[in-house]
Amino acid sequence: MKLGKPKLTSAIFCNSASIGTAGKIDCKGVFTSFFAWAYPTVLRNWRVVATAFGLTEDSKQIVFEISFGVRGRRKRIGQVEVTLAEEDIGNTVFLPLANRFEKPGIYVVHISIPGTDERLRVPLQVVSARWPEFTDEDLEELRSATNLPKGFKATVDCIECGHLHVLEGSPLPEYELQSGVLSFPESGWIKCGGCGRRVHVKDLEGQMLSAIHGAITRARDGSG
Ligand SMILES: [Zn+2]
Repeated sequence: MKLGKPKLTSAIFCNSASIGTAGKIDCKGVFTSFFAWAYPTVLRNWRVVATAFGLTEDSKQIVFEISFGVRGRRKRIGQVEVTLAEEDIGNTVFLPLANRFEKPGIYVVHISIPGTDERLRVPLQVVSARWPEFTDEDLEELRSATNLPKGFKATVDCIECGHLHVLEGSPLPEYELQSGVLSFPESGWIKCGGCGRRVHVKDLEGQMLSAIHGAITRARDGSG
């Protein structure tokens, strides 16, 4: 098979990607859109996976950019340099989809091979989710249930310095936090313990509350 010029053939988004057996890429949770409970949404550690054929010593970089809409200003989210093997006809690479999503809508990930005209554009939709509302009945269900977590813990690492924060929350007003963990502030912002920058955690809180809300609903439906 003659490969010809470098060519980008496919790209997907997934919750996690890792190098599995025999050097294959394992992707889990492939998606084309995701929910955001608050903006900016910065906390996801998701991946973009791309496949390229016919790469050469002169063109073995794959560059990833993101824009809001097709014509929005592009921001580079990363690049991968492929290691060429003698017999390799194709390469699959992945990198974190590190971006601040400021609003709902269609984003586009632009993948390119510098030094060539090769481009691939993949849309990604951000959908606003409704903030979970807990009724008194929901809270009673949660208090009395033996198989539901009363609260949740989440870790957030600062995208600037990597400092790890442990946050805890619950829909129950009487819930007591463990010592040494942070609560989710009303403002949605915490100050990074490492570099002092502000980190937005509201979207994560909405995501966790929504998971508990779903568990309560399922428990109630299941019990009758
Ligand atoms: Zn930091």
